[in-house]
Amino acid sequence: MERKIQVTPWPHEDRGRTLTGTTMVCTYLLDVFVDAIEETLLLHRTKDQDELLIASEFCCGVAATKARDREGPAEAAVKLTGALIRSRVGFGWPSKCLIGGIVGREQFHKLVADIRAELEANRRQQMKTRIVEVADELGLYPAPSGNKPAHWTATCPGTNHLLYLDTNREQFYCGYCRRKGGRFELGQFVADRRGRDMSRNRAYRC
Ligand SMILES: [Zn+2]
Repeated sequence: MERKIQVTPWPHEDRGRTLTGTTMVCTYLLDVFVDAIEETLLLHRTKDQDELLIASEFCCGVAATKARDREGPAEAAVKLTGALIRSRVGFGWPSKCLIGGIVGREQFHKLVADIRAELEANRRQQMKTRIVEVADELGLYPAPSGNKPAHWTATCPGTNHLLYLDTNREQFYCGYCRRKGGRFELGQFVADRRGRDMSRNRAYRC
């Protein structure tokens, strides 16, 4: 099980403490939406604790700590950096590694990409409600639209357009087919459309 990590996303401490006895982790650009700031992370290890420190124009001091394990410094730095990145979601996101240290540029970019994928997967999972599962079971390939949290798209069966799912209301609607309803109506709608397609296919064969 992962050991607990304490995080202070935006530390402001005495600047004198920052650099002594530390190892450079990396320097990167942090996108804070209105601006991008250059931040350097440093690892400080004591006998029983790992600390991740920040040095930047806006932050200074310990950002994350955990009990020291048997792992090497790079591994410890990756764990602490990952916890820091997660704690700042919505407020700051690393855009580019400028200088690699014990965590190299490629490793840093991989860490950021992994966290992004994990957050995206969580987001999709959180919003997946029963109507999405029903659409999936019916073979409609539901996917988050990315526009609104409760808004999913799915293929309208037998057509080349999309229908929409609203997970707040547990409803589907298709503007083209002028059909809407809940889970039961979605099943009926799909059965109607597929039945019609089958009879049309039969007509073609005749
Ligand atoms: Zn339709």
